[in-house]
Amino acid sequence: MKTAVILAAGLGSRLKELNDDKPKAFLELSNIPLIKRSVDILLKYGVQEIIIGTGFKEEFFVKFATNYPQIQLVNNYHYTETGSLYTLWNLRNKIKNDFLLLESDLLYEQWAIKTLLDDARTDLILCSSRTNSGDEVYVGTDDHLRFIKMSKDPSELHSIAGELVGISKISLDTYQEICNFCVKQLRETPTPTQHYEDGLNAVATTTPLFAKIATGLLWCEIDNAAHLERAKKIVYPRIVDREQPAKLTRNILLNPGPATTTDSVKAAQVVPDICPREKSFGNLMQDISTKLIALATSEPERYSCVLFGGSGTAAVEALISSVVDPTQNKAVLVINNGAYGARMKEMASIYKYDVEEFKSSQYQPINMSELEEFISNSAKTFSHLFMVHHETTTGILNDIQAVGEICAKHKIELAVDTISSYAAVPIDMEKMNLQYIVSTSNKNLQAMPGISFVIAKSVKVEGLLNIPPNNLYLNLYQQYKYFKENSQMRFTPPVQSFYCLKQALSELEKEGVHMRYKRYSKCWQTLKEGLAQLKLETLVDEAHQSKLLTTIVNPHNPLFNFDKLHDYLLSKGITIYPGKLTDKATFRIANIGEIYPEDIEQFLVHLKEYLREICHTI
Ligand SMILES: *Cc1c(COP(=O)(O)O)cnc(C)c1O
Repeated sequence: MKTAVILAAGLGSRLKELNDDKPKAFLELSNIPLIKRSVDILLKYGVQEIIIGTGFKEEFFVKFATNYPQIQLVNNYHYTETGSLYTLWNLRNKIKNDFLLLESDLLYEQWAIKTLLDDARTDLILCSSRTNSGDEVYVGTDDHLRFIKMSKDPSELHSIAGELVGISKISLDTYQEICNFCVKQLRETPTPTQHYEDGLNAVATTTPLFAKIATGLLWCEIDNAAHLERAKKIVYPRIVDREQPAKLTRNILLNPGPATTTDSVKAAQVVPDICPREKSFGNLMQDISTKLIALATSEPERYSCVLFGGSGTAAVEALISSVVDPTQNKAVLVINNGAYGARMKEMASIYKYDVEEFKSSQYQPINMSELEEFISNSAKTFSHLFMVHHETTTGILNDIQAVGEICAKHKIELAVDTISSYAAVPIDMEKMNLQYIVSTSNKNLQAMPGISFVIAKSVKVEGLLNIPPNNLYLNLYQQYKYFKENSQMRFTPPVQSFYCLKQALSELEKEGVHMRYKRYSKCWQTLKEGLAQLKLETLVDEAHQSKLLTTIVNPHNPLFNFDKLHDYLLSKGITIYPGKLTDKATFRIANIGEIYPEDIEQFLVHLKEYLREICHTI
């Protein structure tokens, strides 16, 4: 909606002295005139043209409009004898589109506009809950919220939707009808005194208009001294409080998730309360699933994304505990070259599978011929191979495509924890022969924690139907089936995290996965060069490095203490992470999230300070 119309011709006689003889639209709260507040809100929501019907003291509007090329003024020279219906009719040569119609003396919360714009229907009359302002106009409707009539006398109305706020959405057709009604009045007198509300009442008999209810909206009209007092003391301070943007310190998280997020992602969780079983929330989860699938495969229509409420480990466990059929009497194989692989092995043992472990170096690439020999020489047949893509223990990036080739040859299903690689390192499940992958919302997706998911071919998940369940909450098949049939999760999802993920996905779309990985890689390059200058040793060769996380060997200096370094950096707003190796004292720096090479440079400056001033190593 590009057009707004503001009716501002009135005299405001009841407020004259209080307002230095200015039009009511120029009443100020915190030195901001009502009209300025209103115009700024309209422009913020994309309105491009604001037509103001003026009359009393037009010069104030003329001066005001010099700052706003979007404003056009049309003077109602008969403002003293006519009502606002005439002022609205008087704009007929300017109004060419559907429009938002506002009174000029309103103070309201911004979402009043948003809620009208978000509703696909035209011809809506905004209603609030009761304000007890003493000057209420009630909006009467039928039982389906179709507008019938508004009145100050509630006994005249069938059913009351709420109080008239003074903001409506009017289609061009309805406007024509209102003009026709005005013309009819003009036949009786050249100066009709009806108001625009009378116009709406008149056209409602033939044109369907609906009440749009804005429960709990803070607003007021300012018509007299008592209104002004109430606006200043009660309404305005509460509006300011509600609309205050969160002022947040920016912390740089160099731990491997949850990662630093944008302020827009943080803000996205502030949404109206909603029951996640509503259709609109189901649609939100559907859209998110579709986007998550698209990041993993070139054949998205054949795949499904099974969402869980829980951290990444929840989805890893859902996978491992749901896909193995014990009646097949086959073993599973887990590649262990770090803590996350070891954890997959532990899970397989807890679920009492026949599990074999292929151990590989934590810093050196997996030896593929040894892996294949291991599989060929084993007395067991393997149904599944579980492994990690980016082993976040060290920063090594495992060659899942090579493992995928071996698995294809030996008819083993490959299931990969891509938690810390997904949405940065390119993944193509088709090309890489991956049957299942797992990831989570709070790493490279740069959203809030709470959502994890498994992606697999739909037929594959449907094939899990006959496996006797090992689990309940984490059952992959049940979760898939329920979501497919109901567009709902079986259990309460992390509602607000989904709104953040939606925002984060749209930001990822803008940046592109390729460019995101490029940005991360640049951060890593900056880190690598800085660490070399400080003569700090890192563990994984560049050829096998993920460029997402670096393991650094603690300096051989008795004064070095990770906890102290951590606290020192934390005081500068930077978070680092301890190492996870059993045989070496190390610490880790992840360079994922909403961070840039300048952030890494800042980290390096502080690291250098610490090493020089506290450890005296350089
Ligand atoms: C972070 C991570 C996990 C664990 O994720 P949580 O969200 O902490 O449960 C699992 N695997 C890998 C490879 C990870 O990087």
